[in-house]
Amino acid sequence: MRRFVKIAAVAALVALTSSCAPKVAITAHRGFWNCEEAGYAENSIKALELAQQNRLWGSEFDVHMTSDLVIVVHHDRDIKGVNIQTHDYADFKDYRLKNGEKLPTLDEYLTQGEKGGTVLVCELKPQIDKAHEDYMVDQSVAALKKHGLYDPKKVIFISFSWNICQRIAALCPGFTNQFLSGNKTPEEVLADGVNGIDYHYGVFQKNPTWVKEAHDRKMSVNVWTVDHEDDIKEMIDLNVDCITTNEPLKVRQILGGKEQK
Ligand code: MG
Repeated sequence: MRRFVKIAAVAALVALTSSCAPKVAITAHRGFWNCEEAGYAENSIKALELAQQNRLWGSEFDVHMTSDLVIVVHHDRDIKGVNIQTHDYADFKDYRLKNGEKLPTLDEYLTQGEKGGTVLVCELKPQIDKAHEDYMVDQSVAALKKHGLYDPKKVIFISFSWNICQRIAALCPGFTNQFLSGNKTPEEVLADGVNGIDYHYGVFQKNPTWVKEAHDRKMSVNVWTVDHEDDIKEMIDLNVDCITTNEPLKVRQILGGKEQK
């Protein structure tokens, strides 16, 4: 009798666990929230505002640095053939995003970030050398502190630069810090103190056990940039924590009640 009760209790626990399947967060890639259609532009302040208004879990943006050490929000290293890293901020004063905004400084962007409702997924871009990367990380952290955003619940860090990930690990313990490159196993990433991975979905299709291997080590798992229905469903089935996408409305529809808000 006692044995039966124990088995029944275990069965109930399994049923409870499976009915509470882990939820999946959505992050707008470069702030996208169908923003092209709405007249918004990637990495624009307006796109972040739209993600916040729509209560998207996360909004990703890219951080670069000009030669006179101004931290700006932009994806590509070049603007109209001019390298951001080897030109001064003033050289871009006439540049306009597709929606008419000027090139935002990180400080201007974080003024919108302060309004909250959406986690800032901060991609720190590789720079010309380690000294520039270290300076950019330090200045970005200082800007987050100035805006009251230096909080693991308000910002996470991602980077293709292993040096940047290691500097974040040293400076910002307790913050989610994900490596983007996809060329290290979860075990290798964690061995160097970096506590998360954010890999292209093709990496997880090739190495599906990496999600569990990361979770077993209490690491967070994000995946980029998933736009097609089959790939979205496959990543949900793999139990990733967060999907970065250009199609947040489509992912929201597929997730339904499983969306992490
Ligand atoms: Mg990015």
